Amino acid sequence: MNKAKILVVEDDKAVRNLITTTLETQNYQYHTAEKGSEALLEAVSFQPDVMLLDLGLPDMDGIAIIEKVRGWSGMPIIVISARSEDRDKIDALDAGADDYLTKPCSVDELLARLRVALRRARQGRGTNRIRRAERRQHEGTEHPHDAGGQPRRARRQDGREQAQRARRPERAQIRAQPVVFAGALRRRLPLQ
Ligand code: CA
Repeated sequence: MNKAKILVVEDDKAVRNLITTTLETQNYQYHTAEKGSEALLEAVSFQPDVMLLDLGLPDMDGIAIIEKVRGWSGMPIIVISARSEDRDKIDALDAGADDYLTKPCSVDELLARLRVALRRARQGRGTNRIRRAERRQHEGTEHPHDAGGQPRRARRQDGREQAQRARRPERAQIRAQPVVFAGALRRRLPLQ
């Protein structure tokens, strides 16, 4: 039994039915959404393993959905769109989509890409579990301060932040702004 959960976001009824019928034949669980707003609600409540996303939706653009979901989730997102320009693919992938299929695409190819996304998601979860276990072991056996006297936790967070910054420079910039702003305020405010 294949119990992975798939969220199908597609406003075209014929395409939606084709996708859901295909998913049924493979015993996937699925929910559907016809609008972007519904997709965001389902992404939270249904907690899918993979989202299949059309870009042209009646209430919002699929790119905006990718950006919103990426704010809180790393779930694989496969775009299925009629837009075939390189620019559209690049924008979707840069926004955080994991894969991009151009309509019309074969059902077999969709299922193959879906399996890849699920495999990667499972591997990612497994790796994270191992890393967490290693970290707990590491923290439990070693002195909390390194040779320079700096707390290990602080150093590790620095490392994570650097990694995030490298991956998503635009977000790091937004986060860096309040710090600069606070510094400017301190310089300008009278000390007494
Ligand atoms: Ca559409």
